[in-house]
Order: sequence, then structure tokens, then C-alpha cells
Amino acid sequence: MTLVRPHDCVRCGVTIQPGEEFGAVDVLDPDGDLEVLLCPDCAAALRRFLDGGS
Ligand SMILES: [Zn+2]
Repeated sequence: MTLVRPHDCVRCGVTIQPGEEFGAVDVLDPDGDLEVLLCPDCAAALRRFLDGGS
């Protein structure tokens, strides 16, 4: 997946520019699949959360 336009991180709101690293997360909501983008910091935080680590 490659960004063609800047996107905001859904968690902290920082702008992710094309060419920068980012995380993508598939989310299920009542309307179906949704893919959201996270900055690397938030992606790392989410990974720690999902891993159940402290
Ligand atoms: Zn973020």
C-alpha cells in the first residue's frame, strides 16, 4: 500500500506524508471493512496493546 496523498493518523492526528512510514489497520464497523492509517508511533502502541504487553 502506498500513499498518494497525505493522511491524518486516526489516533493522534499527525499528518502522514506520502513516502513516510505508516501503519494500516483493518477495522470492522457496522458498515463493513474499514482501513485506517496510523503513524508509526501509534502503530507501535497499538501493537503493544494487541500483544497484551505492559
Ligand atoms: Zn499517531
